[in-house]
Amino acid sequence: MSIPVPAPQPGGIVAAPLLAPTPGWYEECDVVIVGSGIAGLSLALYARNLGYRVMVVTKARVEQGSTQWAQGGIAAALDEDDSPDDHLRDTLIAGAGLCDEDAVRVLVTQGPGAVRDLVELGTRFDRTAGGDLALTREGGHLRDRIAHAGGDATGAEIVRALVQAVQDDNDITVYEQALALDLLRDATGAVQGVTLHVMGQGQRDGVGAVLAPAVVLATGGLGQVFAATTNPKVATGDGMAMAARAGAVMADLEFVQFHPTVMWLGPSARGQQPLVSEAVRGEGAILLDPHGRRFMPGLHPLAELAPRDVVSKAVMRAMREAGAPNVWLDGRSLGADVWQERFPTILARSRELGIDPVTQLIPVAPAQHYASGGVRTDLFGRASLKGLFACGEVACTGVHGANRLASNSLLEGLVFAERIAGVLAEGLPPRREPSAQPGTPSVLDAAARPLVQQAMSDGVGVLRSAASVAAAAAEIAALPQQFPAQPSTESWETSNVAVVATILAHQAGARLETRGSHWREDYPDTEDSWRLHQQTRLVDGRLVTDHTPLTTPQWEAWNE
Ligand SMILES: Cc1cc2nc3c(=O)[nH]c(=O)nc-3n(C[C@H](O)[C@H](O)[C@H](O)COP(=O)(O)OP(=O)(O)OC[C@H]3O[C@@H](n4cnc5c(N)ncnc54)[C@H](O)[C@@H]3O)c2cc1C
Repeated sequence: MSIPVPAPQPGGIVAAPLLAPTPGWYEECDVVIVGSGIAGLSLALYARNLGYRVMVVTKARVEQGSTQWAQGGIAAALDEDDSPDDHLRDTLIAGAGLCDEDAVRVLVTQGPGAVRDLVELGTRFDRTAGGDLALTREGGHLRDRIAHAGGDATGAEIVRALVQAVQDDNDITVYEQALALDLLRDATGAVQGVTLHVMGQGQRDGVGAVLAPAVVLATGGLGQVFAATTNPKVATGDGMAMAARAGAVMADLEFVQFHPTVMWLGPSARGQQPLVSEAVRGEGAILLDPHGRRFMPGLHPLAELAPRDVVSKAVMRAMREAGAPNVWLDGRSLGADVWQERFPTILARSRELGIDPVTQLIPVAPAQHYASGGVRTDLFGRASLKGLFACGEVACTGVHGANRLASNSLLEGLVFAERIAGVLAEGLPPRREPSAQPGTPSVLDAAARPLVQQAMSDGVGVLRSAASVAAAAAEIAALPQQFPAQPSTESWETSNVAVVATILAHQAGARLETRGSHWREDYPDTEDSWRLHQQTRLVDGRLVTDHTPLTTPQWEAWNE
C-alpha cells in the first residue's frame, strides 16, 4: 500500500539541503561516526580493532547527549531467574503489537554480553553486598533486570567510561564542536561522507566535508521538536533530518514516548525539563490530581506503575478536566534516607529548583521523552541508502514498536553498535567521488524554533486528532525559509527540527488508530488492520508513505 501524503512544496523544508555545495576543506577517513553518545562511542570502540581510520564528529562537547542524562539504567537478562525469552516477552507487550520480533530477539540475546562489555570497559555499576550486579525492576519488566550506576546516575557513569576509553585510544579521532549538516552521495546514490560546520579546530574551521564510504548516524533523538522534553539541547533530530533529505526511509516517527512525571516549572519553561524517574513511583510515590486526590488506582491495576503511556494519558486527562497545567507527585512517604540513597541526583536537582520532595509535593506534567521511530534500519544497522548506518535513538530498528520498554534504549545503542562493527569487519562499501549536493539550499530563522515546538506540543502530543495534527503541520509549512549569507548553528538546527516535525506530523496524521504512546481522540480504538509500520521517504520533492509488515527490511542495494 502506498499513500502519497500531501507534501511540502517542491524545494520546501524537507527537500532543501542545508548548505551550498562548496565545502572549504576536505578530510578523508574510512568510517565517520556522527554523534558521541552510547551508540557512537561504543561503535568507535567496537570498530577500533578493524584497522580502519575511525573519526567521531560531535556537535558539542564529547560527553553531551541524552546518554549522559539516563537515570534508571540498562536492561538485560543477567539474573539467573531471568532469560532473554522473558525480556523478549516484556518488550513485545510494551511495544503494543508493533515490534519486529526478529529485532527484539537480537536485542535480548546479545544484550547480556553487551552489558558485560561495558563492565569490562570499566563502567562501575552498582553492586550487591555479595559483589554481583545490583539489578532492579522498572515499569513493564516482570523480572529484575535493570543494571544501574550511582543510584540514578547510570548514563553519566556509562559516558565517563566510554569517553575515557575513546580518549585513551590514539586510533580514534574525535572532533568536538563539529555540526554535521548533510550527507554526501555519489552518482549511484551511495553515501560517501558528510558536510559539516566545525568551530575552533585549527585549520578545520568553518564548513568542510569528511569523505568516507561508511557513514554512521548516531545523533540521538528529537526531543527539541517539542516545547517541553527531557532531552538535552543537542537533541534536535539532526541525523533524522539529514537522512530524510537524502531520501532514506524513515519509519514510525509518530510513536513518541511522553514521560508522565517531568517536573513542571511554569508556563514559560522551554526545552529540557527535569525528569522524575518512574523508579520514584516504584519506591512508593503517588500521583495526585490538581485537587489533591489520588487518581491512578481506579484506572489501572498497577496504579502509578502502569505503563508510561497509560499514566501519561491519565495525567493529561486529569489536567484537562481541572484546567490545570500540572498534577502532583507525592514522594513524602519515601523519607529522607531513601531519597538520599536511591535518588541523589533527582533530590539535589529538585532542591536547586526550590522543591524539597522529602517534605513537598512535586509539580509534574508529561513531556516528550523518547523517539521510538527514526531512520529505518535492518538487523545490522544498515539504512536504506548504501554506505549509511544508523545506531541508537536516531534509528528505527523495530525493537521498540509503538512504545519503548523502559531501559531498552541504552541497550539498543550498544547491541546494534556491535552488529554494525560486525558488518564493517567484512569490508567497506566502495569509495567513490561524491556528487554536488542537489537542490537549492534553504534554512529557517532560529526564531522559528519555539513556534514549531509549540505547534507540535499543542497538536501532536499525547492526545491528538486529525484536526490538531493538520493545524500543527500547516503552521510549520507556512514558516518562511531563507538562505542567509551566514547561517548559524541555531538556524541549521531549527531547519532540522522543522524537517523532523513535518515527517512526524505526516505520519501521526496518517495513522488512523490509537496505539502505544499516543491517543487519537478521533480514532480511540486500536485496530488490528493497523499492525503495520509507516515508512516515509522523499521522492522527487514529495513525501511518500508506504505501509509495511512487521519484519525488519532487507535492503536490496546493500547486497549488490
Ligand atoms: C532524562 C533521560 C533519562 C533517560 N533514562 C534512560 C534510562 O534510564 N535507560 C535507558 O535505556 N534510556 C534512557 N533514556 C534514553 C537514552 O538515554 C537515549 O535513548 C540514549 O542515550 C541515546 O543514545 P544515543 O547514543 O543514540 O544518543 P545521544 O546520547 O543523545 O548522543 C547523540 C550525540 O549526537 C550528537 N549530535 C547530534 N546531532 C549532531 C550533528 N548534527 N552533528 C554532530 N553531532 C551531533 C550529540 O551532540 C550527541 O553527542 C533517557 C533519556 C533521557 C533524556
